[in-house]
Amino acid sequence: MPSTVNRTSSLKLLFVSTPVGAIGSGLGGGVELTLRNIAQAMQQRGHQVTVLAPQSSYLENIPVIEIAGQLQSTAQTATRQSPICLPENAVLANLWQAAFQIQASYDLICNFAYDWLPFYLTPFFDCPIAHLVSMGSLTDAMDQVMGQTLDRFPGTIGVHSRAQAATFSFGDRCCCLENGLDLSCYQFQATAKDRLAWVGRIAPEKGLEDGIVAATQAGLPLYIWGAMPDAEYWQRICQTYPDGGFNYQGFCGTAELQQGLGQCQGLLMTPKWVEAFGNVAIEALACGVPVIAYRRGGPAEIVEPGKTGWLVEPDDVIGLVAAIRQLDQIDRQICRQRAEARFSMVAMGDRVEAWFRQILESDQINS
Ligand code: UDP
Repeated sequence: MPSTVNRTSSLKLLFVSTPVGAIGSGLGGGVELTLRNIAQAMQQRGHQVTVLAPQSSYLENIPVIEIAGQLQSTAQTATRQSPICLPENAVLANLWQAAFQIQASYDLICNFAYDWLPFYLTPFFDCPIAHLVSMGSLTDAMDQVMGQTLDRFPGTIGVHSRAQAATFSFGDRCCCLENGLDLSCYQFQATAKDRLAWVGRIAPEKGLEDGIVAATQAGLPLYIWGAMPDAEYWQRICQTYPDGGFNYQGFCGTAELQQGLGQCQGLLMTPKWVEAFGNVAIEALACGVPVIAYRRGGPAEIVEPGKTGWLVEPDDVIGLVAAIRQLDQIDRQICRQRAEARFSMVAMGDRVEAWFRQILESDQINS
């Protein structure tokens, strides 16, 4: 069992990453950046962090234990009744086997996977487990195991937005943590070129086609950054809009991404699902780029209409065009200031550390 921890003691933290891709591949979506930032924030506060992650994962200045095995497919396409599936030699199972073996060296484990197994295994561990959930409700089986985990270990599920929490019947018992960034990695750019940005995994739930149509109608080129887990979806987009009007910039590291993103007049966020948070929204604000988003999910809690961007009714492409025409009313300096106030590493670190300590306190009371 871990030694007794008090309110100020330095913590030994084990982070278990998503099994859908190596950290740095982009396949893990926003979870990759979230994990990196929380790990850095905790290190800056004097805590020790070790990360268990699929093979080929890389994090600067943070120890990573790489684990072999087959990647998990993403849950976004699941239906309510979808069963729980694991491939042979699943990296998910291997990650949690490794966590089980080394748990005695840690005060707390934080799970970043949206998968059934870590929730199911929680009562079998001696070390307390915090679950940071990165998506809204998708399947009945996941909802059930998460609800059971909360019944037995109250307070151990964290989410990124109230809208995400509201997709679960137990949402009012989840801890809302939002997110945060190392703002020193994002340079404020006071002026923009005649272009718009779209950033994210190029996958159907992200609704890239709406962004393309809106930018075309507004007469501005759309610059696209993101990993491409679904090449067929991209092919369909290229066939449907053969006249272009968009430029795919590839999947870049943060330094290059923020440089290009910062040159844009606005970021379009057009998700077809309840986006749990939308890291790209706060990355844009950090560069001084206003955000135009559908009033759906996390982005609707990030954008302050008329101040840091505009919110548009979901799926209303004409509304997007009208919002693009109003981008000049937004002060880019205010976008950066709001990012600094709400989404800095310190602000996020305060929220996450308080959550971890609360879990540790409950664990000590109950053990
Ligand atoms: N991203 C990146 N390089 C790119 C495009 C995107 O690193 O060229 C990252 C971006 O920083 C963000 C993530 O991809 O952290 C997308 O996360 P988001 O929360 O917006 O959506 P998700 O993919 O998790 O649904």
